[in-house]
Amino acid sequence: MSDPREPLRLRVDRDRCAGAGMCALTAPAVFDQDDDEGLVMLLNPAPAPEHRPAARMAVGLCPAGAIALDAPDSTDL
Ligand code: SF4
Repeated sequence: MSDPREPLRLRVDRDRCAGAGMCALTAPAVFDQDDDEGLVMLLNPAPAPEHRPAARMAVGLCPAGAIALDAPDSTDL
């Protein structure tokens, strides 16, 4: 179990993204979609604490599994 306020690092895979937009709706400060194809754009791979719960929710909601959650780099500690 992780604390929702723990630092997190995000990655997105635009090859997997289906353009469903759940991420941008759920966490608009962290994700957007491009105008051409509607594919995900990661605005902030290391969201501030207030945006982390929504970002984590977006990971779970993405129907394509295109958003990955990494543990913070150990070099950050
Ligand atoms: S929710 Fe997933 S499939 Fe939908 S736009 Fe975001 S990354 Fe792409």
